[in-house]
Amino acid sequence: MTARILDGTKIRDQIFVELKDEIATLAASGIRPGLAAVLVGDDPASQLYVKSKIAACEQLGLASWMHRPAATITTSEMLKLVDDLNRDDSVDGILIQLPLPKQVDTKRVLEAVDPAKDVDGFHPVNLGRLVSGRPGLFACTPAGCMEILRRNNIAIESADAVVLGRSDIVGKPMALLLMHGNATVTICHSKTRDLPETVRRADIIVAAMGKAGYVAADWIKRGAAVIDVGTNRVTDAKEAERLFRNFPERMEKFRAKNSALVGDVHPDAIHVAGALTPVPGGVGPMTITMLMSNTVKAARLRRAISSPGPSSSSPKQPQTIASAR
Ligand code: NAP
Repeated sequence: MTARILDGTKIRDQIFVELKDEIATLAASGIRPGLAAVLVGDDPASQLYVKSKIAACEQLGLASWMHRPAATITTSEMLKLVDDLNRDDSVDGILIQLPLPKQVDTKRVLEAVDPAKDVDGFHPVNLGRLVSGRPGLFACTPAGCMEILRRNNIAIESADAVVLGRSDIVGKPMALLLMHGNATVTICHSKTRDLPETVRRADIIVAAMGKAGYVAADWIKRGAAVIDVGTNRVTDAKEAERLFRNFPERMEKFRAKNSALVGDVHPDAIHVAGALTPVPGGVGPMTITMLMSNTVKAARLRRAISSPGPSSSSPKQPQTIASAR
């Protein structure tokens, strides 16, 4: 058995086509959704992330602005910048690239973002809306995982779902979205007893721990759908051999680059799972996609324009709370 590959880049392309239609409809009413990104300091990884987000805006025809305060910025200066962006009506989405420098109170800054412009879905108001099943802006990575499941017609209703990880940005919102989709959800974390046995019951597994290849193939029920959020860079040759012993091509690539990107699920899972997101190319492309989707959604919600309907959001599902878009 070889799992069906759940290709995130293909879904990104589908959603981009739908978003372009939606953006054209908004443009006909004189609305151009816009995203303001705030990138503090010169961290190369953060620079790369923000650059790809701005490039996605440009590809879709969204307005975008990049704010580049120095790494010495204070909390009150950050709060002033956020306040300016909150007041600027041309800005629909505000993205604060994390991490912020140590002297800045990150929680205070994130809570200062207008919830209507909180396209990362980190604000407590949006988290509250997610908990209580009301429309809002929800965290991009879990929202992207839901799109992957839906658009591949993986049944969520009545499924036993196990979420590995309980972070505020992935595990918790993921569990809530699955629950609103009528799955029966178990949330696991570092103190969970007998993880393998719990995972073995799952029809849907979402792994978001940050532990390379931790979920062994024999923890997975035959035919289960596996969404691997983990993004881990492996540089140790022994570790690579443990992961790629049955994948000589991947081992060869590792040797050429001295590094490889792997998920939280052991690659051998491909012979047990029914469907599986690859790393890279699964959940990764969906995070920026859902940021774009949230920016367009924020533009609509702020102007009380209703959603274009299920045909352009999620092929077979009505627009429900569990529908990320
Ligand atoms: P995080 O904040 O570090 O949370 C990790 C979670 O995993 C915690 O809840 C932790 O439990 C749990 N955990 C750690 N070790 C465990 C173990 N041995 N058994 C069971 N649970 C364990 O990480 P995150 O921000 O959610 O990210 C998780 C992974 O997803 C990372 O690899 C990250 O790079 C990746 N990620 C990818 C994308 C993407 O776009 N593809 C986006 C976001 C994150 P405790 O709460 O008990 O400590």
